[in-house]
Amino acid sequence: MSFDTVNLREGRMKTSRTIIPFRKTAACPASATLLSFQCQNLPADTAAQVHEHLEACDFCCAEVRLLAHHEVGTVSFKVPEIPMNLRILAESILGAVDKRAGKTD
Ligand SMILES: [Zn+2]
Repeated sequence: MSFDTVNLREGRMKTSRTIIPFRKTAACPASATLLSFQCQNLPADTAAQVHEHLEACDFCCAEVRLLAHHEVGTVSFKVPEIPMNLRILAESILGAVDKRAGKTD
């Protein structure tokens, strides 16, 4: 089954309700707001707004579920060192690309 077929089927099933595309829209709360909502750190009125939004927005619903697995402070972004020989290779390739971009032929 192709990806398009799945999309068509889902589209047909949802015709009875307002279709909100499965993506962030201008109306969506920020991820930080959703995270605060998840942690119950929001003022009651904001929490109510987020709750109302979640009823209508599948994307944010999914995001809140994802954020449920997020633990503040446990995620560390340690960038590993690039091995020196790989770094030299990368820089020579990037340098070559830069030179080619500057050339007008
Ligand atoms: Zn949303």
